[in-house]
Amino acid sequence: MVLLINDLRARISCHRADIDRAIARVIDRGWLVLGPEVCTFETAFAEYVGVSHCIGVGNGTDALEIALRAMGVSSGTKVALAANAGFYATTALLAIAALPHYVDVDIETSHLRLADVKEAIAAGAEAVVITHLYGAPVGDISDIAHLCVENGVPMLEDCAQAHGARIDGRCVGSFGDAASFSFYPTKNLGALGDGGAILTRNRTIAEKSFALRQYGWTTKYLASATGARNSRLDEIQAAILSELLPFLDAENLRRREIAAFYLANIKHPEVALPKFDEGAAPHLYVVRTKDREGLRKHLSSFDIASDVHYPVPDHRQPCHSEMYGSMSLPVTERLSREVLTLPCFSEMHSSDIELVVEAVNSWVR
Ligand SMILES: *Cc1c(COP(=O)(O)O)cnc(C)c1O
Repeated sequence: MVLLINDLRARISCHRADIDRAIARVIDRGWLVLGPEVCTFETAFAEYVGVSHCIGVGNGTDALEIALRAMGVSSGTKVALAANAGFYATTALLAIAALPHYVDVDIETSHLRLADVKEAIAAGAEAVVITHLYGAPVGDISDIAHLCVENGVPMLEDCAQAHGARIDGRCVGSFGDAASFSFYPTKNLGALGDGGAILTRNRTIAEKSFALRQYGWTTKYLASATGARNSRLDEIQAAILSELLPFLDAENLRRREIAAFYLANIKHPEVALPKFDEGAAPHLYVVRTKDREGLRKHLSSFDIASDVHYPVPDHRQPCHSEMYGSMSLPVTERLSREVLTLPCFSEMHSSDIELVVEAVNSWVR
């Protein structure tokens, strides 16, 4: 059997009783979309993250789009973001007809840095998206948030890979003007289908997001907001998320243990390992190597799956190349050639973890 990078069957079987209970509760009630389960989960998740408002939506990309619109991003708004985060934020910006302003990232963390965001704002960026990529909180997030406030530039945190990641005890998603989360099944807090949420402390952004997720309604059948969508979280997914949320911290702890074991035991001169701090919520364990294909082949001879997050930077995507074809982001482009994701999920057995270590260490380049 192949060791997957994330085994959803193992996850589901571990939580099967909780999931069955959640589904039965919704079916028995017969209220299927935007009902009491969504309200209950929204309240619990807002409290967990430490903000006052949570608005459930259809998926993480819709959460990005709706939050950005609610923050005032519109057609032609210049928005600073990284180009190594899977094209999700770019998809949202293109839906709004806003203008992505790509900023290169740090080679060690794969994250944006304060100095680069400062430069982007000086160059005219009117909003900022910060992605807590791979589950490591962006180290500069607090300073970036201050910088944005000082400059009157709204900042959104994309937390789709970092549910429960903390800096000094404070959850990511509570630093910016708003945050977006995805509950896609593979995420650290994953549903059994699509789901997403917008988190914010700001009542105006919350009210706008609330209207934008459903036809622009401020109340039933009264459409007041423009740029609205139909993007709702359904009751079964919300009920499942309410059952799984209490396990999130323990599962993140397990992911940190796996990452720490890899860091202590993988020793290979050609493989650079990521560092996850105390508050991290490791989502993807992404190493770097100059011979990615060689390592992938070697791992697959051990029946170990691997993947690449992400092989094509946003500014190099074919659908997007007309505007950015000549743009150069050297670190982002280098990362896209060198990154490789190894298995890391909370249901991994210790024998699986040891096998990954043995496989990487025995790779002869
Ligand atoms: C998964 C993901 C998204 C998109 O979420 P969907 O629910 O698939 O739309 C957005 N941003 C990041 C960083 C992600 O990993």
